[in-house]
Amino acid sequence: MSEFWSKVVRGLSPYTPGEQPKIDGLIKLNTNENPYPPSAKAYSAIQAISADSLRLYPDPESTDLCRAIGTACGVPADHVFVGNGSDEVLAFVFQGLLASRPTVMGQHDGPLVFPDITYSFYPTYCGLYGVDYQLVPLESDFSLDLNRIPESARAVIFPNPNAPTGRGLARDAIEAFATARPNRLVVVDEAYVDFGAESCVPLTLHHKNILVTQSFSKSRALAGLRVGFAIGHPELLDALNRIKNSFNSYPIDRLAAAGAAASILDTEWFEANRGKVMKSRATLVAGLEALGFEVVPSQANFVFTRHPKVEGAMLAQQLRERKILVRHFAKPRIDQYLRITVGTDAQVAALIEALGDIVR
Ligand SMILES: *Cc1c(COP(=O)(O)O)cnc(C)c1O
Repeated sequence: MSEFWSKVVRGLSPYTPGEQPKIDGLIKLNTNENPYPPSAKAYSAIQAISADSLRLYPDPESTDLCRAIGTACGVPADHVFVGNGSDEVLAFVFQGLLASRPTVMGQHDGPLVFPDITYSFYPTYCGLYGVDYQLVPLESDFSLDLNRIPESARAVIFPNPNAPTGRGLARDAIEAFATARPNRLVVVDEAYVDFGAESCVPLTLHHKNILVTQSFSKSRALAGLRVGFAIGHPELLDALNRIKNSFNSYPIDRLAAAGAAASILDTEWFEANRGKVMKSRATLVAGLEALGFEVVPSQANFVFTRHPKVEGAMLAQQLRERKILVRHFAKPRIDQYLRITVGTDAQVAALIEALGDIVR
C-alpha cells in the first residue's frame, strides 16, 4: 500500500489465478489449459504476419475475426464481439450489462444473481464495478436449479458447464428460463462448452435477453494468445463496444486476430482435439473412481473430485511434492475437493499413480 493509492484500488479484492511456476518436469493440471498444441493452421497464420504490418495499428473492429467466428458459430458477424480473453469480455459485460440500471419511476432493479460456487472472477468484477449481487446456492450434487433464482433478479450469470464443478445445464432449461423472464438478462459463460455441453449460441438469435461468452483458451489451446468473444443481439453488443471504445480501441493485436481466425475455422483440429480430451477425461474418471474418489459428472476439460478419507488440501500438497499441480480451493462447501485438469493420457496415468501412492 502506498499513499498514492486511489480509493478504488484500496477497496479491491483481486482474483488469484492458478500459478504458472517454472519447474522442470512439472505436470500442470491446475489451470485448465489444453494439453496439446493449437491448430497448425493457427500457428502458420500467426507466422505469416509480416514484420512491416506490425508498424500499423490493427483493425479496431476485428472485422475478419468476427466474420470467422460468425461463420463457425452460425451467426451473423454483427452478433459477435471480441476481446482480450473472455475475461476482458466478461469485465465489459459486468460493467455494461450486469451493473444496475437507472431507476425508472421509483422502481428499483433487483440484484444480479450467480451461484455460490462458481467462477471466482464474478465477485471480483462486482467489487471492481460496484455491482450489487446475490448468491443462489447450488444443490447438494452441485447442480444449478434455475427455479431457485429469485423473481426479483434483474440478471443472472453462470458458466455452462459450471466451474469449478464441471456440471452442465441443459439448453432447454436455460431457454425456458429466459423465455419466462424476457426482461431479465441471462449471461451464459461457455468457456468449457466444447467439451460436451450444449451451447446456447443458437438461442441468442431468437432471444434478445441471452448473451453467450466463449474463449480460445481451453478448447482451442490458445490461452497464450488471449482471445475471447461474446455472441448476442447487436443491441447488447453495442453496450460492450461503447465500453471497449472508452477503454482500449485495439484489444486484439494483429497476431491474435490472425491466429484466432485460422483456429476457429480449423474444424478438423477442433474435433480431433476435443475428442482426445473427452476420451482422456473418461480414463481419468475411471482411474479416480477405482481409487475410491467421488467424481462430479463433468462436461468440461477438468473434473471435480474428493476422497472420502483424505483431505483435499493434503492431497494437493502431496501431489505438489510429486511435481503434479492441481487446484484446491480453501472455500466453504468445496474445501474437500480438487479440481484436476484433463491432461494427456501419460499425464493422467502419472496422476493416478501418484494418487494411488497417496491414498493407499
Ligand atoms: C478460463 C475461464 C474464463 C476466461 O478465459 P480467458 O478467455 O482465458 O480469459 C472465463 N470463464 C471461465 C468460467 C473460465 O474458467
